[in-house]
Amino acid sequence: MRSSLVVGNWKMNGSRTANAALLAGIRAGCGDAGALAVCAPFPYLAEVAAALDGSPVAWGAQDVSVHAAGAYTGEVSAPMLAEFACRYVLVGHSERRQMHGETDAVVAQKARAARAAGITPIACVGETLAERDAGATCSVVARQTGALIDALGGQMAQVVVAYEPVWAIGTGRTASPAEAQAVHAALRAQLAAAGAGDVPLLYGGSVKAANAAGLFAQPDVDGALVGGASLDAQEFLAIGRAAWAARSATMKVLS
Ligand code: PEP
Repeated sequence: MRSSLVVGNWKMNGSRTANAALLAGIRAGCGDAGALAVCAPFPYLAEVAAALDGSPVAWGAQDVSVHAAGAYTGEVSAPMLAEFACRYVLVGHSERRQMHGETDAVVAQKARAARAAGITPIACVGETLAERDAGATCSVVARQTGALIDALGGQMAQVVVAYEPVWAIGTGRTASPAEAQAVHAALRAQLAAAGAGDVPLLYGGSVKAANAAGLFAQPDVDGALVGGASLDAQEFLAIGRAAWAARSATMKVLS
């Protein structure tokens, strides 16, 4: 049985005061919101871990080095994150692919470094608007996912995959539920052929409480990677509840 998961990507937002209020709000309301996680900027991770200690909400980082240690100024390694019991790390977010030149190969190496340290990578894939307009959505996403499968082999079953169309991130423009489902179904088939058909497949791109239920009603959408809306505790919790409600409805149909 696949599980649902809603992950907040705070990006480069937050302050110690704002984080404390946000996490207190999430903690207070997370009881009926299913599996949640927040991915925070590096300096805040230890405080986020402490604030969430004893709660069901997991936490993760937003990037990781391909290297385990050494002369890599400014980088943070997977073994360092693992020392703090980090559960998740985002790899291949489109902002890193686009602004930091991360290639499919680098993203796959990052996912492998995370797995080697026992951390679950949340691997982001997605096409640009130009690629969608050129009819290349499925081939782009298949190429990005294929690089992960090649690098991870049997470990691919321990990865979370997030489909994030680049044109929907931070734009207020969401893929329609049918558009998201079409890509998720293709991804699911590719992952199943690699023995990883049960990995959580998240959708990301301007997800809000108002559009979450329609996305989660799709058979291959298991949850969401949420940027802007994850900075508001009530909005984030409402998305979590929508994912959990959709998953519980599926479980009822299957039982
Ligand atoms: C993201 O940053 O992964 C994201 C999906 O952002 P937003 O929800 O703001 O579009």
